Amino acid sequence: MKRATVAKIHHSSIIHNYRLACQLAPDSANLAVIKANAYGHGLSEVAQLLEPMVPAFAVAILDEALTLRQQGIVKPVVILEGVDSPEGMSWAARHNCWPILHTKRQLAALTNADSKPRCWVKLDTGMHRLGFAPPELADVVEQVRGLTATSPVICTHFARADELDNPMTTQQLNLFRRASRSLGCSTSLANSPALLGHPAAHSDWNRPGLMLYGCSPFSGPQEHADQLQAAMTLESEIIAIRNIPSGDSVGYGSRWQAKEPARIATLAIGYADGYPRHSQSQCRVWLHNQYAPLAGTVSMDMVTIDVSHIPETKEGDKVELWGPHVPVTEVARHNGTINYELLTRVSQRVPRVYID
Ligand SMILES: *Cc1c(COP(=O)(O)O)cnc(C)c1O
Repeated sequence: MKRATVAKIHHSSIIHNYRLACQLAPDSANLAVIKANAYGHGLSEVAQLLEPMVPAFAVAILDEALTLRQQGIVKPVVILEGVDSPEGMSWAARHNCWPILHTKRQLAALTNADSKPRCWVKLDTGMHRLGFAPPELADVVEQVRGLTATSPVICTHFARADELDNPMTTQQLNLFRRASRSLGCSTSLANSPALLGHPAAHSDWNRPGLMLYGCSPFSGPQEHADQLQAAMTLESEIIAIRNIPSGDSVGYGSRWQAKEPARIATLAIGYADGYPRHSQSQCRVWLHNQYAPLAGTVSMDMVTIDVSHIPETKEGDKVELWGPHVPVTEVARHNGTINYELLTRVSQRVPRVYID
């Protein structure tokens, strides 16, 4: 009955990737960032898988933390964008969730909350998106200590840690150290690229996300990132095959034309499933242990590929759109975007199938 288009999620790869994070940063507590439906891999499933191994999780927003609690996840949950209302703060306190404070408004919400959660405090070291300015930090930390009777974890976020030689990461690190040194708090800086490529940024808490799903944040090879294992295989099947004569074209806009007689296979996946529409014939898929290029524009529900060089191709054959043979990073590059975006945009229509 079911359409064969699925996102297979490999448990063993996620566990391998988390262990790699711990090997690379053995002196840190490495929480698992599972925001945005665990980067498309399934929030509750990934949380259940990792719960025995991780000290804590992180999500972007309170609703994601709520889902985790409804699913019976009990480990602490850092709420990266924090909480804006006193009610939200009290909820966080009751459910062992740790909001990150980044504005005076959130500090006021904490002040007015009936019960106070443990909090983290964000310092803006140059990303200029969220966080208190360095001169404000000592005062905010003092207030949080007074309100919660514990020291907050001080954290910051890197803007360019994926560019391994970019000096901005070290500048942010130095600014962070100067601002936080005398305050006696635990710290948290490293995202995936910093965990993999900037050991100086490891600290009490690291916050790896992308790497847990087996994707490299770097544009080129990197010794640690190259050991990651892709956790998602986006797979579909061939639902039609035809031979077309030289000169005929395929798909909307006739953007692909056969230079010689060609064999075209149609796959049961399209941009409504999250396979990006700007993929062109530089994009390739994997079937019968070899690659085949796209032929023609990606449609809402279908993709056409050129299988002229694979004569044994038949209806019902399985095809990998991305996964161990076709890095999602490569598909992203051909679409002018990043692996993060493609993973988080695999749509609801695609069932996640969990494999050990
Ligand atoms: C998303 C996020 C992370 C994880 O980043 P990755 O690059 O996926 O490892 C860490 N910290 C914050 C504040 C984030 O928003």
